[in-house]
Amino acid sequence: MNMPDVDMKERTMLKAADIKELIGALSATMSAHAAELTALDSAIGDGDHGINMKRGFEALEAEADAISEKPPGEALKAAGMKLVMTVGGASGPLFGTLLMTLGKEIGDAPDLAGFSGALRKAVDAVAQRGKSGPGQKTMLDVLYPVVEAAEAGTDGASMVAIARQAAEATVPMIATRGRASFLGERSAGHMDPGARSSVLIAETVSAWMESRK
Ligand code: ADP
Ligand code: MG
Repeated sequence: MNMPDVDMKERTMLKAADIKELIGALSATMSAHAAELTALDSAIGDGDHGINMKRGFEALEAEADAISEKPPGEALKAAGMKLVMTVGGASGPLFGTLLMTLGKEIGDAPDLAGFSGALRKAVDAVAQRGKSGPGQKTMLDVLYPVVEAAEAGTDGASMVAIARQAAEATVPMIATRGRASFLGERSAGHMDPGARSSVLIAETVSAWMESRK
């Protein structure tokens, strides 16, 4: 039978276009929010988070063709490595670890049930790499609630709402990891920049998934 082969090829091509679209959307989001992320990082860090994320996702976009041709697991690994190399700061290796682990865990046949398990492992890998956990005013304060929502089968819109609330909840926290921890109690009263960029990623991925339905 030849038909299924043709179908399969068309589906694979569509997937590559979809992945490319997602990378482009993430890059556009980071560019649009670079000033906001930098302002957050200026308040409790060194003011480079916006420019770090913009640079990393632009680099990803520049390689979107090559990355999107790979099977999903390999594409995520390549994207993660690119972020490690280009974002810099503390957040580059952490977001890079997130994507590389996700890629390793989902392999080439991602399904929804397997995805939340892979996401849990990926966020645990970030925590391990950062020697950090929830409650320390970092990206993990958004990433863990997102994992829990994914495990509970929460829909995209509700997951985004959960992520936004979780980022708001970092405002009163006192940072005990990352640069913001140098400020001690003075870190309270500001949203964590990495928590905010995690929300932006969740929003963009969710909108992309919605557009593919
Ligand atoms: P840097 O702090 O090196 O300037 P960025 O400004 O790009 O790097 O990123 C800062 C963000 O990284 C923080 O807002 C926080 O969310 C996250 N972060 C920093 N250190 C850790 C850590 N040990 N564990 C988890 N997240 C961290
Ligand atoms: Mg910084």
